[in-house]
Amino acid sequence: MPYDYDTLAQWDRDHLWHPFTQMKGFRDEELLIVTRGQGVYLYDHQGRRYLDGVSSLWCNVHGHRRRELDEAVKVQLDQLAHSTLLGIAHPPAIILARRLAEIAPPGLTKVFFSDDGSTAVEAALKIAFQYWRHRGRPQKQRFLKLNQAYHGDTLGAVSVGGMALFHDIFHPLLFDTLEAPCPYCYRCPHREDCSLQCLTILEEQVATHHEELAAVILEPVMQGAAGMLPQPPGYLTRVREVTQKYNVLLIADEVAVGFGRTGKMFACEHEAVHPDLLCLAKGLTGGYLPLAATLATDDIYNAFLYEFDEFKAFFHGHTYTGNPLAAAVALASLDLFEKDRILETLLEKIELLTNRLAAMADHPHVGDVRQRGMMVGIELVQNKKTLEPFPPARRTGHRVILEARKLGAILRPLGDVIVLMPPLCISIEELETLTQVTYQSIRQGAGGD
Ligand SMILES: *Cc1c(COP(=O)(O)O)cnc(C)c1O
Repeated sequence: MPYDYDTLAQWDRDHLWHPFTQMKGFRDEELLIVTRGQGVYLYDHQGRRYLDGVSSLWCNVHGHRRRELDEAVKVQLDQLAHSTLLGIAHPPAIILARRLAEIAPPGLTKVFFSDDGSTAVEAALKIAFQYWRHRGRPQKQRFLKLNQAYHGDTLGAVSVGGMALFHDIFHPLLFDTLEAPCPYCYRCPHREDCSLQCLTILEEQVATHHEELAAVILEPVMQGAAGMLPQPPGYLTRVREVTQKYNVLLIADEVAVGFGRTGKMFACEHEAVHPDLLCLAKGLTGGYLPLAATLATDDIYNAFLYEFDEFKAFFHGHTYTGNPLAAAVALASLDLFEKDRILETLLEKIELLTNRLAAMADHPHVGDVRQRGMMVGIELVQNKKTLEPFPPARRTGHRVILEARKLGAILRPLGDVIVLMPPLCISIEELETLTQVTYQSIRQGAGGD
């Protein structure tokens, strides 16, 4: 490393504006500079080792510096680093499109590449909108989203987002949407008399507005950034039935839940649901390079087939769309899913997580523990009886992750929800360590022992 820690920390303070970060307080904290990774561990400038408890923001699958993935990038680099998909093609994008069509839920045969989760969502929204124009139903142009939804940070994705903290300020810039309550059972007024009232409202919204509805967008099975909010079994099936009944498209955003996170390759598989559009990103390249895909059905794709001079192509695309290096490493990642039998090995890990989480639930400040597969949210509260949250200024979630850092794990909370989402390759022993560190950090950061 040509620059010492103090120089880098000073330059960071002087020039680097970090995402989702209040820079005022951040600049006063000790900066963690990650210089190296190996397996499920990250190392800082001093060689201190940290378990990567959130997969470097939910994308790492097979660990850092995984030989096969490194090799895939190097081999591709010897051929071609970048060439466009506008008007021409290259092998990695072609082969990856085919592979994705093969493994995706049935019917999703067409693959539109982009760079990030947000761009995958933007593409899905614009495709859905334009689809109905071409089908002669131009009044179908609205979207229905779930409360608390998160689909990325570009303005289209923010429009279909529902997180007040991130999204309210941009309200004047957003397009109008319909909203249904998200299943958030822990804080649901119908906790005691649940008959899936949240679903009934969604159904009513679709029934009332279907003439003007282009699509329903949701994260299947578990809303991630919303605070790890799982949907009750059967929820997804019902949403699919309702969208089909009323001729409304279903967009499944599997940017977070895709690629094994919930225990299946894709979350839609839990209920054998086949969406019309599927958004993929984060884990697509095993966490190596930015790449995203929006998958569509033949019906949607065919609706865009016209003569050239009718000008009805999908006029959308990004410079680095389907980048060859990223596509090559995505292919290598899919190979590893098979070679390492990832989904089979998850069963034991998921069970261990379930057991360890059950033990944490007794803690006086652990309000709710939520898990779907390898995705976990632990909601910390001030008062377990009344569900009263901690005051935001206390920054309880942040305190907890600073404790975890001292104990050798990197976590990133969602407010006071402690998130665990380790690389899927994590061993049983490492997972055991991660849960121990998490519990210890909660005890120190939330107090109450
Ligand atoms: C992270 C995320 C996005 C946005 O992906 P980026 O790559 O950060 O743009 C979209 N949808 C969901 C569900 C996500 O978790």
